[in-house]
Amino acid sequence: MTQDALMRLIPALKTRTWAWWPAINDALPGGRGRRSLWSALIALVMAVLVTLVWLAGRYEASQLQTELERDTTSAVSDLRTQLSRHVQALQGLQSSNPSEAFWLLEAQSLLRENRDMLRIEWRDPALNLNRSTDSSLRSPVFERAPRAETLSETQQACAQAKRSSGPSYSRSFFLPQSDGLGMEVMDMCLPNTQGGVLVGFTVVTYGLQELITARLGVVYGRRNEISFTEPDGTRLAISGRQSRGLRVFTAQQLLDLPGNTLVLRLDGRRGEPDLFPNVLTALVTAMSIALVTVMVLLAKDSRRRLKAENDLAEALAFRKAMEDSLVTGLRARDLEGRITYVNPAFCQMVGLAAEQLSGSIAPMPYWPPEMVDEYKQRHAVRLAGNAPPREGFESVFMRADGTRFEVLIIEAPLISVQGQQTGWMGAVIDISEQRRIEELSRASQERLQATARLATVGEMASLLSHELNQPLAAIASYANGSLNLLKDPAALPQTLDDVHMALRRIAEQAGRAGKVINSVHDFVRRRDQAREAVAPQALLDAIAPLVNLQARKLQVKVHTRIEPKLPPVLCDRTMVEQVLLNLARNGMQAMDQPGSMERVLVLQVRRAASNAEHGWVEFSISDVGVGIADDVARQLFTPFFTTKVEGMGLGLSLCRTVVEQHGGHLSFEPLSPRGTVFRFTLPALLVDKMAA
Ligand code: ADP
Repeated sequence: MTQDALMRLIPALKTRTWAWWPAINDALPGGRGRRSLWSALIALVMAVLVTLVWLAGRYEASQLQTELERDTTSAVSDLRTQLSRHVQALQGLQSSNPSEAFWLLEAQSLLRENRDMLRIEWRDPALNLNRSTDSSLRSPVFERAPRAETLSETQQACAQAKRSSGPSYSRSFFLPQSDGLGMEVMDMCLPNTQGGVLVGFTVVTYGLQELITARLGVVYGRRNEISFTEPDGTRLAISGRQSRGLRVFTAQQLLDLPGNTLVLRLDGRRGEPDLFPNVLTALVTAMSIALVTVMVLLAKDSRRRLKAENDLAEALAFRKAMEDSLVTGLRARDLEGRITYVNPAFCQMVGLAAEQLSGSIAPMPYWPPEMVDEYKQRHAVRLAGNAPPREGFESVFMRADGTRFEVLIIEAPLISVQGQQTGWMGAVIDISEQRRIEELSRASQERLQATARLATVGEMASLLSHELNQPLAAIASYANGSLNLLKDPAALPQTLDDVHMALRRIAEQAGRAGKVINSVHDFVRRRDQAREAVAPQALLDAIAPLVNLQARKLQVKVHTRIEPKLPPVLCDRTMVEQVLLNLARNGMQAMDQPGSMERVLVLQVRRAASNAEHGWVEFSISDVGVGIADDVARQLFTPFFTTKVEGMGLGLSLCRTVVEQHGGHLSFEPLSPRGTVFRFTLPALLVDKMAA
């Protein structure tokens, strides 16, 4: 997987984990933000749970209330049924125009059967009392308050009954009792008509308390307090016991009777619903526990993920730092040849930004236009699945500014986690610098050879000038011979021919010698014209690649010390470079001895202190090598003198020739404790000269 893809993976991982989490997750700073979000989530879940439990409780309470309402409704309906049964029984009592004794018997039987009836009266149409009987189950109700005083309510009820020809109930009224207490009672007046003529009334007195107790007590009284109330809430009669409980539930229902309306009220005291009172609450609680468990697991999982993310991010950062620090360009392509990844080194190499490169397909922006066809073919071969050689191949790329540079490309298949090839990964090495150094080295070698040839020519010239002695000697002997011949006048005619011939020879030899001298002169003059002003630094820089090459081979450290603000030297650059190279090479070779000493070659340039004119620059090359023995020292500058197996013995003599040609001086001296220093001077181009 490419690094880009990995970098894209991290936010993707995060989004997947926190998809349901608000986007502020990103906005908040790391751990603190996440912690506070977790607390918010926990608070939210707790609030939801509490609300659920509360709602469940409320639901249960409403269930209780509904149940109570239902009870009240059925209680009222029970009462109504009971009262209409009473009416039927009483109608039966008066239907058959009974004898008084029979009436009494029947009435008493009714009173015994119905505890809520306290008294039954038989009155005539004018409401005068014919007969009456009180319940035998308790003391008569009108003992303390005379009946006559309480008759007004009854009269109203009977008037109403008469009008409606049906039963009518009086408003309830209070009756004081002999035990000091009192009771609320209500009369029911039933008219007795026979053949359409009112013949009397049956009046029944109901005790409200008894009415509730007898008719509702058994069924509803166990768990509720039952009461009759006035519409304004005043209690008229109460029955039943209040069960213990925390909360009172109340339901009321109107008992609408002809002539009177009572309010039946049921008060039920129930315990507050428990936490697990029913299936719903239990379910909610179980779900809550499951939710909390899931949250805990989620938190653990998220912690694990967070750790994995951090590890991944760290690994990525490490990899990225590694890739960024690489000088080798990296380039990944998918199977279609599209660039999927480039590292900074690659971008720097081709001078294009990563965004410009990624996603691009052939022809790539870094292909030189003239090579596009060739590269396309190579590309097609690669895409066909042919692996390139392992050692890589050389190619030419183009920078954004159009300059070309050589690269070495090493490509390998890119294998995914599943083991499938997803593309190609290429390491691209810019070898243009290497090529440049190779070229430089080659050029130096050529120059070296040329200089060596020149040196040989120089030496040859000196040898030739040495050869001049021959023609000169010949000239001299011809001249002497001629003079001798001219001393004998007798042999003159013969002698003249000889002298003539001798003089011709002299002329020939002189001409030959002159040619030799001219050729040497020409050579020297030509080299003279090659002089130029060169900074000492430039001279050292020019030889540095070759010196370093050999230094690496011989494990020598090269130190360069250049005095600041040195004037440029006036010299034949190539020759002086050759001198420096020769001396440096000799120094390094002198140190190439077995032993543990540190091999250091010091190249130093400074103003020549010894010269009063200050117009000279001194170069010195010191080594810590074997040094120079006296017998060697004597022949050091002799051409072809060497102590090396493969040496030519021309180096130092050439150096001296060159330095002296520049008007300078080459010398050497031993160093303590070991080694040798070679010094030579070159004329400096002084400022005033420069100005001139
Ligand atoms: P070559 O290097 O081909 O032998 P040179 O003229 O450059 O020819 O050197 C002549 C000889 O001088 C060398 O063979 C070596 O013995 C000696 N020589 C030159 N430089 C040094 C040095 N720095 N230390 C010791 N001996 C040296």
